[in-house]
Amino acid sequence: MSDRSDSHEGDADDEGDADDRRFETRAIHAGQEPDPETGALMTPIHANSTYKQDAPGEHRGYEYSRTGNPTRTDLEANLASLESGSHARCFSSGMGAINTVLNLLEAGDHVVAGDDVYGGTHRILTQVYEQYDLETTFVDTTDHDAVRDAMREETELVWVETPTNPLLNVNDIGALADIAHEADALCAVDNTFATPYLQRPLEHGADIVCQSLTKYLGGHSDTIGGALVVDDAELDERLGFYQNSVGATPGPFDSFLVLRGTKTLPVRMDRHCENAMELAQWLEDHDDVSRVYYPGLESHPDHDLAAEQMDAFGGMLSFEFDGTLEQGSTVVSETEVFTLAESLGGVESLIEQPAAMTHAAIPREERLAAGLTDGLIRVSVGIEHVDDMKADFQQAFDAALE
Ligand SMILES: *Cc1c(COP(=O)(O)O)cnc(C)c1O
Repeated sequence: MSDRSDSHEGDADDEGDADDRRFETRAIHAGQEPDPETGALMTPIHANSTYKQDAPGEHRGYEYSRTGNPTRTDLEANLASLESGSHARCFSSGMGAINTVLNLLEAGDHVVAGDDVYGGTHRILTQVYEQYDLETTFVDTTDHDAVRDAMREETELVWVETPTNPLLNVNDIGALADIAHEADALCAVDNTFATPYLQRPLEHGADIVCQSLTKYLGGHSDTIGGALVVDDAELDERLGFYQNSVGATPGPFDSFLVLRGTKTLPVRMDRHCENAMELAQWLEDHDDVSRVYYPGLESHPDHDLAAEQMDAFGGMLSFEFDGTLEQGSTVVSETEVFTLAESLGGVESLIEQPAAMTHAAIPREERLAAGLTDGLIRVSVGIEHVDDMKADFQQAFDAALE
């Protein structure tokens, strides 16, 4: 990507010891030093639960690996740097991270969240936290008047996702953070779809960034993890208390895998973005496709905002195959380069049909009203050759329509 080379210059200059190297360099080096004893270049997998103390309470920074583990520490420092924050906390899953944000709230508090947030986020807010008297209002977060109307005296958190799943709506992080702050609420942004390579919500005024490390940051569909990044030591302390108290922390092997993944995040994302853009244009011109949802297309209603807020448009896209639910199911079953599976963000392309899979529980009328048509297909565009992807779609479309 041509405009990346200096996008981060100066951003981190406020703090004395800030690492002002460019993103690609920090992706590989931030938080990591060769081992002083052995010279080992890579952060070791510290498979270890406890640490020797020289006298009671006298230790070298580590006591017990739920509280802190050196492999995890390096990953947390790496992620803090990439998200333009001062502190990061890692978790055993993205949901573990999201849960920890909700731990900051109290019974009687109120949350405002997007009406198209990740299914697991919707589930934890409604099916877990409502019983603790934490109420959530779900609104269209692209409609700022609706968000303002939803705010109450008790609102303590505005939860934002952008781009969203599966229609790739783009939300204005700065505007939503302002609405949250006017009401003395925190603004948390789930940055999983964009990754910090394409979008850094803390720079737009968000208080907390959440990541499912399972997706692009891990990048190889081989581990589950989550992270929270903030630019505020006091808020980090509070999150750290719940991280340690609840205990949904990642093991050292998982931390190692994600640290391995972040080194190649920029080169992987460049290819994801390139392939997704080319595929989106090809699909948009295809006779069997009635609509393509990709923020990089000028036909996308939020294209201008996406161009402003993001450095490129990501690897996720959805499209409407012009056919029935069954024909859509045939397409996703017949593709071979695209594997039929949930999840996203790995090097391999994945495909799914929301109406028959992730969003099947929503009544059809409601689902259609939300724009989730029978033939809607969502893809996580991998880094295989884009011509093989096009050929794969063509044979799957032919099979569905024959
Ligand atoms: C996958 C995902 C999550 C949850 O992360 P897990 O690692 O599966 O727990 C949260 N938000 C978004 C946008 C996701 O895609």
